Amino acid sequence: MKIARVETFILHVPVTGGNIADSMHAISHWGMPGAVVHTEDGRSGYGFAGTHAHLPTDRLITGFIAETAAPLLIGQSLDGTADVERLWSTVYHFPPAQWVGRSGITHLGLAALDIALWDLIAKDAGVPLWRLLERRTDPPPLEAYDTDGGWLHLSEAQIVANCRRAVEERGFHGVKIKVGKPDLAEDLRRVAAVRRAVGPEVKFMVDANGKWDLGTALAADPFLAEHDVFWVEEPLWYDDLEAHRRLAEAARVPIALGEQLYSEYDFRNFIGAGAVGFVQPDVTRLGGISEWLRVADRAHEAGLPVAAHAGDMAQIHVQTCLAHPACAILEHIPWTRDCFEEPMTVRDGVFVRPEAPGAGTTFRPGILERYGR
Ligand code: MG
Repeated sequence: MKIARVETFILHVPVTGGNIADSMHAISHWGMPGAVVHTEDGRSGYGFAGTHAHLPTDRLITGFIAETAAPLLIGQSLDGTADVERLWSTVYHFPPAQWVGRSGITHLGLAALDIALWDLIAKDAGVPLWRLLERRTDPPPLEAYDTDGGWLHLSEAQIVANCRRAVEERGFHGVKIKVGKPDLAEDLRRVAAVRRAVGPEVKFMVDANGKWDLGTALAADPFLAEHDVFWVEEPLWYDDLEAHRRLAEAARVPIALGEQLYSEYDFRNFIGAGAVGFVQPDVTRLGGISEWLRVADRAHEAGLPVAAHAGDMAQIHVQTCLAHPACAILEHIPWTRDCFEEPMTVRDGVFVRPEAPGAGTTFRPGILERYGR
């Protein structure tokens, strides 16, 4: 295959119930600035990043793709994984781009393109991405846990009802709720109420989205441990490696993090410092599937489980997690599910294996028109 042209798009897809909030963010839509990479023989690969659907910011990402990265790709050959890695490196190391950003806007643009390239070579091979990646051949069931019922703006009664329904009616074996209320005592009451409602067998996680300081996290830890919280996610400001290291050393509940880390080097630093228990790389924040695999490999070497952050809100992480031996559990947030030809599906608490060729990123007809900005 030879790359002929790159077309950009920005989709804004409504979230469940019209709006959601955690301790740091309140959004009404999930943003997908991305690219369709077309080949000379008429094939198309789809990829995108995940954002908070702020149009001026999303345009910076598609602007980088269209004006800086696409000219580097057009005319290049694409016949296998070695070509994806070569093209990843071409964009990542393009001197004017790496000078202004090895994270943020440029990296999200790289993520979208990398995903589109993997989509193309998996389609060309006639297999779903997880089969192409070949880190393991016959994956065990990939457990789904539900995040979409535990938002911070919901009342205690609402999160209790949502989590109970996720377990009893929808078959999930795990749930996660947001924490980071102004008053820690309120967070802890909500934790106790949800644990009571779902019973002792269900995996139960909490996520502070970077809101707490070290003192608050240390104060919360014994209570979280007593309520058998499986992990505490992003307890502290994302970049504060030393505070995470100190918390990990002192706390009983393992730390999960990674959704705001941009590069394999960030993960290398956190893993090396013993500052993370569950590693949460995200293909839409890292430079796509290529860099996600390098992070998952490194976590696996260090003996750490990978529980990806599902920033695609769809099928891509089902593919990468099925393929990788470090993965046994994955987050479920279905906001963009209905945009795709083969929607992400959970049955009896596990993700159904995708079977369509590609990365699972091909939109259904009409989606670009319906949600395009
Ligand atoms: Mg999170």
